[in-house]
Amino acid sequence: MHEASIAQSILEIAINECLKAEGSRIDRIRVEIGIMNSVNAESLLFAFNAAKINTIAEDAELDIIEKPVGGYCKGCKKRFISKELFILNCPICGGQDFVIDQGRELNIIELEVSGETEGSKKYT
Ligand SMILES: [Zn+2]
Repeated sequence: MHEASIAQSILEIAINECLKAEGSRIDRIRVEIGIMNSVNAESLLFAFNAAKINTIAEDAELDIIEKPVGGYCKGCKKRFISKELFILNCPICGGQDFVIDQGRELNIIELEVSGETEGSKKYT
């Protein structure tokens, strides 16, 4: 299952970052996932909740922010956001000269840790 390996890598990165920040416990992990990754948020949450047991992230909440597909159209020089997974035409002008630059994200954007140094760290 695709989501299980993603959950595992989110956990590994978060634990590494937490230790680097001299934290001893992870309270919250916020991730940004572009819809083009075809990740099922519910499955990811389920996999994460299973993987976090017996780690310093055992009590951590996973917040999943799904990012829609977005891009920039060279035809009408505007940015657009779409709920569609595949975009064939610019939703604004219908042109085909555009670049997709959003929707492939798979990042940890915020980590809340407790321990020596409390507080949250933003990655954006
Ligand atoms: Zn356009």
